[in-house]
Amino acid sequence: MNSVRPPLVDGHGRAIGDVRVSVTDRCNFRCQYCMPAEGLPWLERSDVLTFEEIERLVTLLVQMGVHDVRLTGGEPLVRRDFPVLAARLAAIPGLQDLSVTTNGYLLDRDADALVAAGVHRFNVSIDSLQRDRFFEMTRRDALPRVLAGIERLAAHPEAHPIKINAVAIRGFTEDEVLPFARFAREHPYEVRFIEFMPLDADHTWTPGSVLSGAELRELIGREYPLEEAPREPSATARVYRFADGQGQLGFIDPVSDPFCGDCNRIRLTADGKLRTCLFSHNETDLRTPLRDGSSDDAIDAIIRAAVWRKELKHRVNEPGYVQPLRTMSAIGG
Ligand code: SAM
Ligand code: SF4
Repeated sequence: MNSVRPPLVDGHGRAIGDVRVSVTDRCNFRCQYCMPAEGLPWLERSDVLTFEEIERLVTLLVQMGVHDVRLTGGEPLVRRDFPVLAARLAAIPGLQDLSVTTNGYLLDRDADALVAAGVHRFNVSIDSLQRDRFFEMTRRDALPRVLAGIERLAAHPEAHPIKINAVAIRGFTEDEVLPFARFAREHPYEVRFIEFMPLDADHTWTPGSVLSGAELRELIGREYPLEEAPREPSATARVYRFADGQGQLGFIDPVSDPFCGDCNRIRLTADGKLRTCLFSHNETDLRTPLRDGSSDDAIDAIIRAAVWRKELKHRVNEPGYVQPLRTMSAIGG
């Protein structure tokens, strides 16, 4: 089914297989590395793609060879009837993998419905396992509720392995790494550390604020020796197993060890803009053609032309790097 249309390939020969779909720019948290304390000006509801529009675009992309769809935001679970959207997307013929990235706050309410809808892969973001430090980073006193949500999800065998994502920031995460390593050893979860990227609304990122994957592995390895596991070409994470076989950790190192060469991802914002890189300065409007009666073939041509120009690599480590206007929650991480 996913060969109904020619494959979607960029100008550097990379076949696109993965789309991150932001279903809302709104969020119930205010993580320091993402949003300002006061929030951001939200999109008007009429500017946000409807379920029908998202379904049409995802169907088209799957026909072009996209096999993985990750739903994100903002916080995807704050979108009304989100499990209904998930079920509609899960039913698209040819779609192999539907996953969700969430802060976990509403998982206690929605985990059962999302698993029933056909979502079997979840990334839950937690930056600290200590309640006060979790509050400091997210500006919400919500750790117990998030952990309860994860337990609810963990009751579903088909939702495993659950991934827990922590953003690694110098001056904060050093004290978190060993508790997270123990957590990963004691639970059937894969904890993954993501290097802090210059996509925060407060513009506090500096090269020095990145706590690199190599530094984290060094800190953890002193206590719990690690061994690298084989890596899939387009995987974002390097996986390391504990040498004694008790669990594993993932490291997503986009700053210190970019994986752009194998990037097979594109992104769709909540207001229907196609982005070919997290760090893009350009985006392509798909909402207008969706709403002006354009045919699927016409939208296919617009997507193909944009993807052809997909950036070879990000320039975060180059002098004169400029952060995109949209920040993480408005892009869809
Ligand atoms: N609200 C959901 C959540 O937090 O999981 C989904 C959207 S959030 C933008 C997606 C992921 O991006 C989260 O794992 C979050 O920790 C990560 N993130 C946000 N800002 C980041 C930054 N500046 N650098 C690295 N990761 C970031
Ligand atoms: Fe919200 Fe996720 Fe951004 Fe935190 S990282 S403010 S939970 S969108």
